[in-house]
Amino acid sequence: MKSFAGVIGWPLEHSLSPAIHNAAFRRLGLDWVYLSFPVRAEDLATAVQGLRALGAVGANVTMPHKGEVVEHMDDLSGDARAIGAVNTIQRVGHRLIGHNTDVDGFLAFVRDDAGLRIADTRCLVLGAGGAARAIVRALDASGAATIALCARRDEQAEQVAALVSDAEVERLRWDSLPGESRAFDLIVNATPLGMRGQDALPELEPTEGQAVVDLVYDPPETPLVEAAKRAGGAGWGGLGMLVHQAAASLRIWTGQEAPVEAMSVAALHALSRR
Ligand code: NAP
Repeated sequence: MKSFAGVIGWPLEHSLSPAIHNAAFRRLGLDWVYLSFPVRAEDLATAVQGLRALGAVGANVTMPHKGEVVEHMDDLSGDARAIGAVNTIQRVGHRLIGHNTDVDGFLAFVRDDAGLRIADTRCLVLGAGGAARAIVRALDASGAATIALCARRDEQAEQVAALVSDAEVERLRWDSLPGESRAFDLIVNATPLGMRGQDALPELEPTEGQAVVDLVYDPPETPLVEAAKRAGGAGWGGLGMLVHQAAASLRIWTGQEAPVEAMSVAALHALSRR
């Protein structure tokens, strides 16, 4: 049966999601199409109602609408409710269910791609936006001993800290970052710093025993990932998580196992054509 899904965000020229999901639809033999819906903030409510009216399978939601879209959902999954952000909409009849697959996407990346053990480790998360909230929830659920938060705005970092229920929470000042970051087993960059065309992160000096995950995926090897590898440690960019969160969205819409390999190849191919 012909159907459609898409991504809602603003601006959207650089989204890899259409390439990733259309490759998956083809591989699964679905006669579906995944479209790009650039939507301004003032049109968000109408656009979401349009998904319902037009019978979309669902949609992804990206910056800057992940928080705002919550109020237009009929129900929320546990992760979306806890984080206060939706990146996946599922249409069930006339109801729209909001999910957040960044948590599962990060966990699948950690387990399947990186092979990292989180239990009992000391983790540092940079940033306090939507992605940081997902990462903190994932780290806490995975048994991290300590989760340290470092963001330039205190109030935001406090809100993220409130998501932690089991790990010990620490706070680092943004201006003390380079030196203090050496005390952690895992560093996750959940800011856009280091992205092509954006400012650089404060210069961290990862050590041999540290692992670094940069959620930024353009360029695929960010300066932080390069620094980690130069130091003899482990480093990954954000492409793996991007593919796994897309795979989790696809499972929600189709109920089928996602063709992760084909999605990954499509993401790399689309990135190389930028
Ligand atoms: P967001 O909600 O806008 O949060 C961004 C965070 O970065 C905020 O805490 C922000 O602080 C901070 N920040 C931005 N510019 C900064 C600067 N110059 N100095 C210090 N802090 C700065 O965005 P998000 O959704 O969390 O996304 C964050 C990054 O993760 C983006 O690059 C996004 O593409 C990436 N991401 C990747 C994946 C993946 O699957 N790989 C998934 C989700 C997100 P302020 O609030 O003070 O501006």
